[in-house]
Amino acid sequence: MADEVRNAGEPQTREPQTQGGGTVFGMILRGEIPADIVYEDDLSIAFRDIAPQADVHVLVIPREPIRSLSHAAAEHQALLGHLLGVCAAVAAREGIAESGYRVVTNIGRDGGQSVDHLHFHVLGGRSMSWPPG
Ligand code: 5GP
Repeated sequence: MADEVRNAGEPQTREPQTQGGGTVFGMILRGEIPADIVYEDDLSIAFRDIAPQADVHVLVIPREPIRSLSHAAAEHQALLGHLLGVCAAVAAREGIAESGYRVVTNIGRDGGQSVDHLHFHVLGGRSMSWPPG
């Protein structure tokens, strides 16, 4: 029997454990662990960092489990632009657009990335120093 006939009527979804990927952010996306979600849409969610480094510290992530900015492909160009727009929208909602804020994405070992699911940190509510540590 052809697969499309055998599978007729079955939900056409990926395995639950692979939706959102195998990191802790995948668990948040699947609702397996709680998070303080401040924004979500079809492509992304934003939630407060569990160990905030500023008064406002929100993580903006794609629902698609892209490992890091270095793993984004040409097909992700629109998604990357969307994520940056979400960062700006989150900053406005959090009331830090006027005072200023920082958007950071850490990549790989030397970049200090600890969760292998692309994310943008939105940090504000205090004055940031430069250069970063
Ligand atoms: P990275 O170090 O990869 O740039 O950033 C990962 C961030 O995820 C860290 O700031 C860390 O505090 C945050 N984080 C790790 N686990 C959790 C979690 O379970 N919930 C939330 N809300 N944030 C987390």
